[in-house]
Amino acid sequence: MSGEKEIYLGYTTDKAVTPFFKQFLEALEKQQLMKSTCKKCKSEYLPPRQYCQKCLTECELTEFTERDAKLVSFTVVEFAPESLASRQPYVVAIGEFPSGRRLTAHITNLMDMPKVGMKLKLSFERVSDKQVTYKWQV
Ligand SMILES: [Zn+2]
Repeated sequence: MSGEKEIYLGYTTDKAVTPFFKQFLEALEKQQLMKSTCKKCKSEYLPPRQYCQKCLTECELTEFTERDAKLVSFTVVEFAPESLASRQPYVVAIGEFPSGRRLTAHITNLMDMPKVGMKLKLSFERVSDKQVTYKWQV
């Protein structure tokens, strides 16, 4: 037994293949969302990227603390991949935080069709023993 903890994002069973991504998932377990910032040009990425898209320098993880956002775009998924079949139809939405940062996630507690401009709140879910994810709630 290696003592290596297994952890996955969302509903997949893809292992956290890099230490960088694993750090992101372990923060999610503690209900912290991490962004990444380029060590050289200071570009920011949410969700985090390990390497800067502009200058290819390695990024470092820092906590992203905004939780309230507004809905800017959404789509209803009627035909889901197998791993999400039990949840279909479901809504995937882009929310925008006051800082202007945007994030894509499922909205999981809708009672009605979503409306652009409605308030969203970021929350976290332990899907199973080894799976964590983040989501929007209305
Ligand atoms: Zn950079």
